[in-house]
Amino acid sequence: MRVVVTGAAGFLGSHLCDRLVADGHEVVGVDNLCTGSRENLAALLEHPRFRFLAHDVTLGLPVEGEVGGVFHLASPASPPDYLALPLETLAVGSTGTRVALDLARRTGARFLFASTSEVYGDPLVHPQPETSWGNVNPIGPRSVYDEAKRFAEALVTATRRAHGVDTRIVRIFNTYGPRMRIHDGRVVSNFVGQALRGEPITLYGSGSQTRSFCYVSDLIEGVLRVFHGTRTDPVNLGNPTEWTIEQLAGLVIRLTGSGSTVVRQPLPEDDPKVRQPDIAVARRELGWEPAVPLEEGLRRTIDDFRARLGPAPSPAGR
Ligand code: NAD
Ligand code: UDP
Repeated sequence: MRVVVTGAAGFLGSHLCDRLVADGHEVVGVDNLCTGSRENLAALLEHPRFRFLAHDVTLGLPVEGEVGGVFHLASPASPPDYLALPLETLAVGSTGTRVALDLARRTGARFLFASTSEVYGDPLVHPQPETSWGNVNPIGPRSVYDEAKRFAEALVTATRRAHGVDTRIVRIFNTYGPRMRIHDGRVVSNFVGQALRGEPITLYGSGSQTRSFCYVSDLIEGVLRVFHGTRTDPVNLGNPTEWTIEQLAGLVIRLTGSGSTVVRQPLPEDDPKVRQPDIAVARRELGWEPAVPLEEGLRRTIDDFRARLGPAPSPAGR
């Protein structure tokens, strides 16, 4: 199959492209590199079944010929990134999603949208099932991301109903792994980078807020099962094992053997207090559940960060 992946040079997009090419597909990766990098695609750029288009998806998708699948992942995803790119984030969720849907409609391709656990906002139901409608502040700082994704879900669903486009929606919960940008500002990349550099670990708020961390290979497997499955309503994809952020800090310090201390910083506005996916739908309908425990996934992530950061700084005076 020939498929198009938007956001191909990002963390998840590049892993998805690797997997699609390994599975024998021809892949056109599109990315404007606002938060992604060509280095993430280094292994694919010379591959005969991979083509890269440096392009902003909000300006159209100049892809000719047959297309069997469109995976729309383009969007800043880390809170510091979308806070720095608020209008771009709204544009890629709205105009960008319409453009990607138009390509699927034009070519008869199946369309998959990368939504997020953020559609649940600061959740009122815990853990979060797909039936939950969410609790989002429409004018808070995170709204540029949350509401863009909620609008996009509505657009995808309306396009399926109005024009019969064959659509899928995955709601991705915090996912981590090799190739995360070292300075992308998300908690795993911050903590691992800080621990390896021997810098203080920045714990926001009390650290009692929770997240559930999914390793990237598990997530990509889930995305492909949703794509190849029959369910058109949203599917939660994430690891249901919930951790406090303070526990995560302790685990990263232990696994890196770091001497870093923990420093408290203010909790960002509207930071969700809890987050844990209810994955009963994915288990039942797709036979999917995560296989990589946090400790194992973090070891692999730490190895990748260590290789990219180079040798650890030697303690002063030695
Ligand atoms: P990322 O920032 O690494 O990747 C996003 C990619 O999209 C980047 O390469 C960026 O340059 C590209 N992009 C942004 N705007 C674009 C535009 N207008 N045109 C073309 N390319 C554009 O983030 P990620 O973690 O890989 O996230 C990928 C997708 O998955 C996003 O849609 C994100 O909302 C979703 N998601 C990720 C997570 C997670 O934990 N990683 C959780 C929930 C949802
Ligand atoms: N966080 C933290 N220190 C950091 C970065 C993040 O304590 O250096 C916290 C953040 O406040 C949130 C959680 O870790 O409660 C997850 O943040 P992240 O930005 O990774 O993703 P979110 O789930 O909030 O989108």
